[in-house]
Amino acid sequence: MHRSIPLWRQIQRKNFTRLDQLAAFLNLTEAQKQELWGQPRFVLNLPLRLAQKIEKGTLDDPILRQFVPLQKERHSPPEFKLDPVGDLTARKCQKLLHKYEGRALLMPTQACAMHCRYCFRQHFPYEKESGCEDELKLIQEDSSLTEIILSGGDPLSLSNEAMQSLFASLARCKHLKRIRFHTRFPIGIPERIDSGLLTLFKDHPQQIVFVIHSNHPRELDADVLSALQSIGKLGIPLLNQSVLLKGVNDQEETQLALCQTLVDSGILPYYLHLLDRVEGSSHFEVSEKRGLELIAYLQKRLAGYGVPRLAREEAGKPSKTLIY
Ligand code: SF4
Repeated sequence: MHRSIPLWRQIQRKNFTRLDQLAAFLNLTEAQKQELWGQPRFVLNLPLRLAQKIEKGTLDDPILRQFVPLQKERHSPPEFKLDPVGDLTARKCQKLLHKYEGRALLMPTQACAMHCRYCFRQHFPYEKESGCEDELKLIQEDSSLTEIILSGGDPLSLSNEAMQSLFASLARCKHLKRIRFHTRFPIGIPERIDSGLLTLFKDHPQQIVFVIHSNHPRELDADVLSALQSIGKLGIPLLNQSVLLKGVNDQEETQLALCQTLVDSGILPYYLHLLDRVEGSSHFEVSEKRGLELIAYLQKRLAGYGVPRLAREEAGKPSKTLIY
């Protein structure tokens, strides 16, 4: 029987993956094109919705900086590593990481809706095979686990059919209380939150927590917020984590607008992460001191629940390190 391709998948297939086409779309000059990196290992992958938010004719746009490979990435200081947060050491199985007590991170896919240039997992040697049988067996056997974090890659890259099957396996692990999503997918393709996915969420017996990743208020347009609110209406907690990035969100007014938009939409700012020092990302780094200044600014203007925790992840530590 013919199966129609979901709308979100059709949209994803129109992502920009060729730099020359994106450069033409953005009206970049020849001089600006020279600053792009044409052959990065972590390839260009950018949904049209995000590309349309980029100001034309400049490289100094906060959306562009997050997604477009630049020559700067090629000059990486030695303290910027392939695996800055110790993922490989925490790997219990190909797709399962266990760092923190009671929680484990399952990576059912390596695919993302977009490729973020600062991603700490951009060099991760993902397992290409589909299926998570070995990982699910380990989860089933470890009754100390109460929460599974679905990350990747982006868990919303899974089809609804694959998600249903994964949910069924997790539901059989009676010691699990929660499934947490870490996803950036709806920021680029909000159509991913379709009726089939919402039904899966509504019917799942374990609690679901939905953590998005948004760094700039321009990412949060009306369609994105409406899609997220449809999840919130199911009683699922919505949280956001950001990464503090130079030239993207290291200004007071940007952080304030981001947090205000989130709170106004029922999404709580959860973490503001200092950059993980992954190879190729040094041009994004913002100091801890600057991070504290931004938090102090937000504290004077927002309710406590509207201010994210400033944090850093350190390899081998039993929790994130809270700076504030
Ligand atoms: S969406 Fe998340 S996992 Fe995917 S590239 Fe961006 S930061 Fe990395």
